[in-house]
Amino acid sequence: MIVEPKTRGFICTTAHPTGCFENVKHQVEYVKSQPHVNGPKKALIIGASTGYGLASRISSAFGCGAATIGIIFDKPAKGARTASAGWYNTAAFEKLAAADGLYAKTINGDAFSKEVKEQTIKMIRKDLGSIDLLVYSLAAPRRTMPDGVTVSSVLKTVGKPFTNKTIDLKTRTISEVTVEPATEQEVRDTIHVMGGEDWKDWIADLHDAGVLAENAVTVAYSYIGPELTHPIYLDGSIGMAKRDLYEKAVEITKEFPEVTAYISVNKALVTQASAAIPVVPLYISLLYKSMKERGLHEGCIEQMYRLYHEKLFSGAKPATDDMGRIRMDDWEMKPEIQKEISDLWAHIDDNVVHDYADIDGYWDDFFRMFGFQIPGVDYTKDVETEIAIPSLEE
Ligand code: NAD
Repeated sequence: MIVEPKTRGFICTTAHPTGCFENVKHQVEYVKSQPHVNGPKKALIIGASTGYGLASRISSAFGCGAATIGIIFDKPAKGARTASAGWYNTAAFEKLAAADGLYAKTINGDAFSKEVKEQTIKMIRKDLGSIDLLVYSLAAPRRTMPDGVTVSSVLKTVGKPFTNKTIDLKTRTISEVTVEPATEQEVRDTIHVMGGEDWKDWIADLHDAGVLAENAVTVAYSYIGPELTHPIYLDGSIGMAKRDLYEKAVEITKEFPEVTAYISVNKALVTQASAAIPVVPLYISLLYKSMKERGLHEGCIEQMYRLYHEKLFSGAKPATDDMGRIRMDDWEMKPEIQKEISDLWAHIDDNVVHDYADIDGYWDDFFRMFGFQIPGVDYTKDVETEIAIPSLEE
C-alpha cells in the first residue's frame, strides 16, 4: 500500500513503516556514534514505543549494551489501517537490537493493569532474573483504576482561567486561547493518570517479586518550562500530577532500599503528548528557532543519551537541583534563550511569526514522529504495512 499522512487535530492517523524504521535507525546510529556508557545491563522501559521512552530504550540498549523489556500500548495494522507509529518503531527497535545480539522483548498492553505487571515479572524472572533500571515514561490520556473505573487526565489550569497567545499550526496564525480551570475531580483524576501512583505500584510489585537488583535505578520524566506556560503546565492540572510524581520519587527511595528514584526534567519537544497542550506549540516553535541558532537544539535521543552519559550513569552521583531533580532542561532554560523568547512573545503576531518561530521545524518533527518526511524514504513506493514485532510472535 502507498502510505500518506492523514492528520486529524493533533494526531496523524497513519504511520509509515519504512519511515519509522529509518527514524529508529537514525537514533540508534546516533547513540552508537557516542562513547559507551557504563550503565544498566537489564532495563525495563514503560512507555517504550515513542518519544522519550523510545529514546531511553535505545540509549539503554545501544549506549549501555543492556537487555531491554519494553511496555507499549500500540496497534498493529489491520486491513487498510496502518499500525501506530509506536508499533513500527518497536518492530524496528527489535530488529536492530537482534542484529547487534541484544536481548529485546516487548509486552503490548495497558501498563496500568495488574495483568501487564504480572506478565512483566514473569518475563523478568524467566529471562533476566532481575532488572537494574526502570524507566517510567508513560504519557497517557486515561487510566483504568484497580476498581475498574476509567479516569481521564485533562490539560487545564487550576483555580482561574488563563488567556494567552497560541498558534494554529495549520494556518500559521496567532490567536488568543482561554483555558478554563479544571474541577477538583478533574485534578484528582489527572493525578491518578499522570502522577506517580502507578510508578510506585510497579516498584512495589517488582520489589515484592524480588526482581529489583541491588542498587537499581528508576527514573520518571517531568517538565517545568518558562513562566509564560506555568498557568497551563507547572501550576495546571498536569503540574499537580507532576508534583505527585516528585513525592512518589522520594517515597520510592525511602521505602525500597534497593532502588534510587530520580525525576529528570526534560526539554520541551514535539511529541504526541506535547502537541495537545494549548500555548505550548507556539513556545516550542520559538524555542526551536532560538536553540537551533545557538547550536543547542536536541531531540529526544540527544536528551536521553546525555541523561545517561552525563547524569544517571556518569560514575558520580547525578547533579540535581534543590528539589533533587535532574535538569535536562538546563540548555532550554538558559537565561539568554528565555529572555529572547519572552521578548518575542510580547509582540509576536501573524506578520512576524514566520521570522521568529520555527514552524517548519515543528512540522518536520511532527511528521517524522509518524515516519513521514524522512530524507531518503521513497513515499511513492508500495510498502508492506503488516509488520510483526518479533517478540510478540513467540
Ligand atoms: P509519548 O506520547 O511520545 O510517549 C508515551 C508512551 O507511553 C508511548 O510509548 C505510549 O505507547 C505509552 N503509553 C501510553 N499509554 C499507555 C498505557 N496505558 N500502557 C502502556 N503504554 C502506554 O510522550 P513523551 O512526550 O515521550 O512523554 C513521556 C514522558 O515525558 C511523560 O511523562 C511526559 O510528561 C514527559 N515529558 C515530555 C516532554 C515533551 O515535551 N514531550 C518534556 C518533558 C517531559
